[in-house]
Amino acid sequence: MTFKELGLAEPILKAVEAEGYTHPTPIQQQAIPVLLQKKDLLGVAQTGTGKTAAFGIPILHHLYESISLNQKSRKVKALIVTPTRELAIQIGESMTAYGKYTGLRNTVIFGGVKQGKQVNALKSGVDILIATPGRLLDLMNQGYISFRDLEFVVLDEADQMLDMGFIHDVKKIIAKLPAKRQSLFFSATMPQAIVQLSKSMLGDFERVTI
Ligand code: AMP
Repeated sequence: MTFKELGLAEPILKAVEAEGYTHPTPIQQQAIPVLLQKKDLLGVAQTGTGKTAAFGIPILHHLYESISLNQKSRKVKALIVTPTRELAIQIGESMTAYGKYTGLRNTVIFGGVKQGKQVNALKSGVDILIATPGRLLDLMNQGYISFRDLEFVVLDEADQMLDMGFIHDVKKIIAKLPAKRQSLFFSATMPQAIVQLSKSMLGDFERVTI
């Protein structure tokens, strides 16, 4: 299978080619068609499998296609929540690379640094927001983030978020998102607390295991 056969928009295909990817990885082959059908997804997969492109590419594809129909509005339409600053930065870099011909903008927010630059980036408008839970909740509570236009939420490395004690923050964040949305849930392991969280977050979903 090729990326072209997945039916992706031209700017995404061009970016994937520029990254040197010739074929989708197994998780991409399984997850991309499910996500393009607008279904929720439970992915049991580790970092290193090509997970970021598996969720990032369908999100970019959808936003690119809908933005060429509608007007450009720099409101947060996709939220990716991940446990650590390093993962957030990595996901941001990947989204920038996969989306470089789409005109879509992303920003990354995480704790441990002053919030000023992050607030300015939010104010200037972003399509895709990548965040760690604590800082995200903090900026939400300060009124800097609106999720009125949100269409996608990705919970990445959910088991690690549980281990790091972020589960309550994550639940509070999810409670503030619009009910009508596409939800993606990724975890390397599925302990009971994570099974429960995934059930509470996902609607009818497809499961992909790598
Ligand atoms: P991830 O699991 O998202 O952290 O990705 C792991 C690594 O695989 C990253 O360095 C990606 O750039 C790379 N990668 C992702 N998808 C592909 C692909 N289809 N072909 C080759 N490399 C890929």
